[in-house]
Amino acid sequence: MKVTKLMLGKGYSWETPYYIATGEHGGPHVMVVAGIHGKEIASIRAAEKLVELLKQQKLQISQGKLIIVPIVNQAAYRKRIRGVPDLNRTFPRTKKQAASNPLSAAVFQLTQRHQPEWYLDLHEANGLSQKDAKVLGQTLISNKGNPAVPAVRRTIKRMNRSIKNKDRHFNLRLHELPGSSRTAAARILGARAVTVETGWSLPKNVRIKYQLEIVRHFLREAGMIKANEVYLSAKVRAVT
Ligand SMILES: [Zn+2]
Repeated sequence: MKVTKLMLGKGYSWETPYYIATGEHGGPHVMVVAGIHGKEIASIRAAEKLVELLKQQKLQISQGKLIIVPIVNQAAYRKRIRGVPDLNRTFPRTKKQAASNPLSAAVFQLTQRHQPEWYLDLHEANGLSQKDAKVLGQTLISNKGNPAVPAVRRTIKRMNRSIKNKDRHFNLRLHELPGSSRTAAARILGARAVTVETGWSLPKNVRIKYQLEIVRHFLREAGMIKANEVYLSAKVRAVT
């Protein structure tokens, strides 16, 4: 397995690194993005940890290609803010329409270039969905009719089986969000597209663990890793 570091928007003020892990054999393409919102720290740390595990060969991609953008919005991340404008409303809304921001345009072009079968967008949100149906904390979101939905249901079952505290259980939401990266990947590129939302109120290490476990379940669903990979014990560190 090979891991390559590349730069998105090289030379622009918003440039940000991304990584491609390539397996020994051809196979599915999976894209993981985090930090479209700059203050959703657990999702960013989980993406960074994923990169580190791949670099250290502690997580092996048996086949296919995994593209990871750990911090999409560097400017928002530095200030620990959601970002202005909200980048997740600036992705293309139709095939003919361009993204309304150079950064989301670059992320969408990268997605388009690699044509991923799976697109995972990591976020964090308020509340706990198990206690309040109106909040998005502890949810997996996809679009109605998206081919990812059966795998999302299986992932939620697997996650909840391992979470003793029922208040922290995950729930499914089906939602169209025009201008979001998930809806663009789903509707324009036909990807199996999922947004992961951990709940802010939980301890950070728990949220990072949930994010990583969810990504791992989807990598298995995509046929990219074998079921017995053990990597969650590795220490969390920022990517340099
Ligand atoms: Zn978000």
